Amino acid sequence: MAVKILDICINCGACIDECPVEAIVDDSENPTGEEIYYVYPDKCVECVGYYDAPACAEACPTEGCIVWDECHEGQVCHPHRCEPGTPATELC
Ligand code: SF4
Ligand code: SF4
Repeated sequence: MAVKILDICINCGACIDECPVEAIVDDSENPTGEEIYYVYPDKCVECVGYYDAPACAEACPTEGCIVWDECHEGQVCHPHRCEPGTPATELC
């Protein structure tokens, strides 16, 4: 379960300290090599058990930079997650 940061990320850093499980790394630690922040999908819990909605997306100043990603079988995912690619500020 995870949310995903798109390449419109402006590297502002607003999201990283909001994550309750330290799933976000900055551009210098992005394992893909892209110069944007990154969410480790195996660490992100979609804020389930911590907040009603993804705290990173709530904190992000961009329009839809942080989106819902795939929810794979066996993972506990947010009960109101929207389709992958939808801004994670939206609940469905
Ligand atoms: S959705 Fe929550 S757990 Fe996942 S990266 Fe964002 S703040 Fe962290
Ligand atoms: S808050 Fe949004 S724009 Fe800022 S670093 Fe995080 S994902 Fe990128």
